[in-house]
Amino acid sequence: MIVSQAFTAKRYCILGLARSGLATLDALMASGAQCTIWDSREEAREAALACHPDAVAGDPMEIDLTGFDGLIVSPGVPLNRHPVADRARAAGVAIIGDIELFALARPCLPPHRVVGITGTNGKSTTTALIHHILHVAGVPAAMGGNIGLPILSQAPLAANGSATGVYVLELSSYQIDLTFSLDCDVAVLLNITPDHLDRYDGFAGYCASKARLFSMQQGDHPAVIACDDEPSCAIAASLNHVITVHAADINPADQAAWPSLQGPHNAQNVAVALAVTEALGVDAAKARAALASYSSLPHRMERVAEHNGVLYVNDSKATNPASTAPALAAYPRIHWIVGGLPKGDSLDECAPFFGHVVEAYTIGEAGPVFADQLGAHMPVTRAEMMDTAVRAAMANALPGDTVLLSPACASFDQFRDFEARGDSFRQIVAALVTAQTEDARAKDNVR
Ligand code: ADP
Repeated sequence: MIVSQAFTAKRYCILGLARSGLATLDALMASGAQCTIWDSREEAREAALACHPDAVAGDPMEIDLTGFDGLIVSPGVPLNRHPVADRARAAGVAIIGDIELFALARPCLPPHRVVGITGTNGKSTTTALIHHILHVAGVPAAMGGNIGLPILSQAPLAANGSATGVYVLELSSYQIDLTFSLDCDVAVLLNITPDHLDRYDGFAGYCASKARLFSMQQGDHPAVIACDDEPSCAIAASLNHVITVHAADINPADQAAWPSLQGPHNAQNVAVALAVTEALGVDAAKARAALASYSSLPHRMERVAEHNGVLYVNDSKATNPASTAPALAAYPRIHWIVGGLPKGDSLDECAPFFGHVVEAYTIGEAGPVFADQLGAHMPVTRAEMMDTAVRAAMANALPGDTVLLSPACASFDQFRDFEARGDSFRQIVAALVTAQTEDARAKDNVR
């Protein structure tokens, strides 16, 4: 756990006692802070108080917030609409998150560096990839933020001779909004496309949120920015210390040797990861060699099976058309399972790659609208349900084809979250593959 004298005798109010809220409470109490805690779920409050009897329960919508050193909220709280934001502002209390606490704790940590990664799509992949390269190159590294364990619950990286450790942090724009003093040794922007507009004052507000990651950097700490879209290029142009890269920097022939990093989006992620690790002083040849051994995170272009020459790929994390488009670009003959809770009505961003799709299988709430749209370009099966879609795709796919779940939609119409959707795809594929294998064996025995 990360503890710091920066918190000793300070007063914090923590709103939200899920995983990162609890980790924050542990770290602050261990650092000698006073904590007032709240969660609308009584059992969550009781569980937290059972672990920390010195903490006090108090609803920040009711207590006097004057004098608190910070109101700590989870990034899931929509601050643009939540009334607690006005209360905190009126009391002069900063609204912060666990990444800001990490930033405040840094002076007490052994010498280290921080890489912060943001962008609309590819954050988790690039964070995991940079972490992987550092690990293979023998640089101590920890991964946190929007991925893995809450950063405050992790053991601090020990000083290890000349190899100072690196904290690799995935930062959503919501987390950046709660962070004010994180000086990243290298700060990264992958791309910006319209997303989460319910939380921002238009697209410009969303871009401004991303740009703040760079305005927090000090001295000559560099930014690494993929200049493959205009808003990202505009941010790059506004900075003094910037390394720009492009997906096209990566040679497709080289990329063929990295099985878990296929598609133009992963070329972008690789270009960024190589620039970041180079800026951190990792030998370029070692970094490139590590790309072959990277294995994808679950639900991101995850190869779940290969059966009768057909590849099955789970890209359930593709919750918007911008993240599905590069998945369609990655394979030449695709049976595309698409749909869910739509974020808009249009699949236009995917259109340049419709030629790669042999057939589409629509599911979920968006199914009928998508089927009408796609029908003009490709054969469509209106499957509605995941198992119908997988069965139909498996029946149609020929050796060399890819069955790809890349829904371009949120999952909440039919699944708890994108993980449950991807798990369902994986399980259905596994069950059908087993059934077909057993069938084939039985037929062989009869012969
Ligand atoms: P994030 O953490 O930003 O949501 P992930 O790495 O989890 O990003 O990937 C989310 C989805 O976006 C996946 O479907 C993935 O295949 C796709 N994706 C990954 N990298 C990129 C990129 N650089 N540009 C566009 N889409 C991407």
